[in-house]
Amino acid sequence: MKTTETSSSLHSQSLPANKAKGRSAWQSVLDAILVNLEQLRTVSLPPEIRSNLEAAIEKARQLPYLFPEESEQLRLAALYRVSHSLGSTLDVDEVLNQVMDAVIELSGAERGFLMLLDPDTGELHLRVARNMEHETLQSKDAVSRTITEAVVRSGTPILTTDAQSDPRFARQESIMLHSLRSIMCVPLRSRGELIGVVYVDHRISAGVFTNEDLNLLNAFASQAAIAIENARLYARTDQALQQRLSELETLTQIDRDLNASLNFERIMEITRSWALRGTQGFQAWVLLMNSDGKIQITSGPPEEYPLSLQIPNFDREWAARTVWQEGNQTLLAAPIFHGGNLAGLIAVQKNQPFTEQESLFLSRLAARAANAIENARLYDAVQHANQEKNRFISVISHELRIPMTSIRGYTDLLRQQVVGPINEQQRSFLDTIRNNVDRMAALVSDLSDISRIESGRLKLEPRWLTLAQLVEETTMSLRPKLDEKGHQLYTEIAPDLPEIFADPTRVSQVLTNLLTNAIKYTPGGGSIWVRARQQEGFIYVEVQDSGIGIAPEDQKRLFEQFFRSEDQAVREEQGWGLGLNVTKQLVELMGGNIGFSSQPGYGSTFWFTLPLEGKAQ
Ligand code: ADP
Repeated sequence: MKTTETSSSLHSQSLPANKAKGRSAWQSVLDAILVNLEQLRTVSLPPEIRSNLEAAIEKARQLPYLFPEESEQLRLAALYRVSHSLGSTLDVDEVLNQVMDAVIELSGAERGFLMLLDPDTGELHLRVARNMEHETLQSKDAVSRTITEAVVRSGTPILTTDAQSDPRFARQESIMLHSLRSIMCVPLRSRGELIGVVYVDHRISAGVFTNEDLNLLNAFASQAAIAIENARLYARTDQALQQRLSELETLTQIDRDLNASLNFERIMEITRSWALRGTQGFQAWVLLMNSDGKIQITSGPPEEYPLSLQIPNFDREWAARTVWQEGNQTLLAAPIFHGGNLAGLIAVQKNQPFTEQESLFLSRLAARAANAIENARLYDAVQHANQEKNRFISVISHELRIPMTSIRGYTDLLRQQVVGPINEQQRSFLDTIRNNVDRMAALVSDLSDISRIESGRLKLEPRWLTLAQLVEETTMSLRPKLDEKGHQLYTEIAPDLPEIFADPTRVSQVLTNLLTNAIKYTPGGGSIWVRARQQEGFIYVEVQDSGIGIAPEDQKRLFEQFFRSEDQAVREEQGWGLGLNVTKQLVELMGGNIGFSSQPGYGSTFWFTLPLEGKAQ
């Protein structure tokens, strides 16, 4: 319990000779006279002077009651003023200090302190004091304790105008010890509950406090208690909010960590380390059911796991619970569900029981980890399927290549009449065979490229090359197709284009794919442009056509595998919808970028870039 205010305010005030500031000046004078008269009592005086002195003291004490109305008004004014200043802050310590100052001011007490009741232990704890010596506050048999505890027990205030002669306290050693005379102690109540006490006293003077003072203090105490409760409530809400915020921060951080990876082992490790961090455990494990229903420890040392490999029944409850206990050793486990089925658990071991907070944390972690684990599993499955697909493609493309080469070779021999004359119909049949074999060869070649790029098996063989020359060679090879459709080809290669470091076969493949599309998707007699220029460490190449263009809805899907537009003009052309996908992958593999712009009915422009110096490693 905090008692710092106590030491800081000890001796900080001189004897408050007057009561509330609202009291008139003559009363202050009167108080001072009384103190002096009381002090005179301690001096040995001749009997006649002593009896005069006692009479004077008695008169002085009675004097304030001759003016009850004035003092009542002043009291109310003072009460209003100090009560009004309460509630200006919601800081508990500040409110307690304000209350204490107000109490001293209202009662005109010499000293005082305020204690609050600990709701858990029922003990009184000193929270703030004025003009009290440390020893008094610490000492066990201090009068303050006797009186405050009596107030707590009875719930009623205590007032004694002269403790030395009050039969209730006169025999108390501490009353004698501290020569206490005037004492007031009132309970602090908030919503009917006792929350503490305020105590004030005056050592030398008897009769300093009156019933009116007690009423005043009582009236103030009920307001003060509300202010104290409000501040405490605010502190609790504030604390709860802070805690909730920091919980949210932690959960966000967990999500961030878990989402940063799709690697199954990594997800397991992240989950385990958060389980340890969030619960203060000393060991943690993640157990999962694998595809054949067996439980496996996927993270954490298996030899240290204290239970047999079984997942307890959680009855579809997400909440974590203690699944094992031996002495102080506790194993807390939270279930991991997948689609409503129990799929595993996160378990943490600790040398002491887990708090509710820690158990809640583990449940939340498990819910989050469940998603991440499922994603990682799916990703693993997709990766695996991809690997299988690539393996399959590489096998079939290898197996198909040999028969296709022989079909193509024999067809050509037959067409060239090497083995004997053929008629027109036979030639037409052979043309169809040749055409279909070419289609199949293109498909196999594209599929094999994709599978090699995806599996990282496609190796580039870059060398320094002149792009103008490469464009020339490529367009030459496409000349028959251009002529067949009566297209005009224009090449605009910047004359100062430097050499580039790239794989000529792959650059030519990219150019061929884009030009073939331009030829295919431009109605006969169209125009095609090939342009190349240098642009900040890259060369920029574009292939423009005056063709059919691409509809906006098709543009989004253009680079997807097997995508072909539904447009009739496209469907009339042969194709598999793989060319652009291979092209994009090749350009990116070489360290460049690819893009296009198109306007349906007016044509399309496809562009790509390549780094002059080759792909940075
Ligand atoms: P394919 O040409 O074999 O169909 P691609 O992957 O090369 O496959 O192209 C995919 C689709 O993109 C084409 O089917 C077509 O719809 C559209 N496309 C590609 N290039 C052009 C172009 N220059 N003009 C119009 N549409 C194009």
